Amino acid sequence: MKFEGKACPICGKGKMEAIRHEADPGIYVDAYKCNKCGEIAYAERIIKILEAIGNRGKEERHMVKVGSSLAVTIPAAFVKKLGLRPKDPVHISMDENSLLITRGQRMGALRQI
Ligand SMILES: [Zn+2]
Repeated sequence: MKFEGKACPICGKGKMEAIRHEADPGIYVDAYKCNKCGEIAYAERIIKILEAIGNRGKEERHMVKVGSSLAVTIPAAFVKKLGLRPKDPVHISMDENSLLITRGQRMGALRQI
């Protein structure tokens, strides 16, 4: 849908003007901005592209119960890309809505003298 020159769908008072908008850090797309309220609108094809970018690198997994804890498998593509191996140490941290798994330091093999 072309928004340029059309009335703003939010405030109804302004007109939509074509702009170059930074939708995500470093990602610039064609967009339309209301010259009154500042509302930003994207064409449908831009929304699809932004959704695809937003989902890149994400895979849905389901938690499984292991004893009294929960576990989740790491996708094979992530394992391969990061060179992870069984028993590698990891650190898990959290905030309100997310978990972050960070690679720990691998212990070097002990040398026999
Ligand atoms: Zn507006």
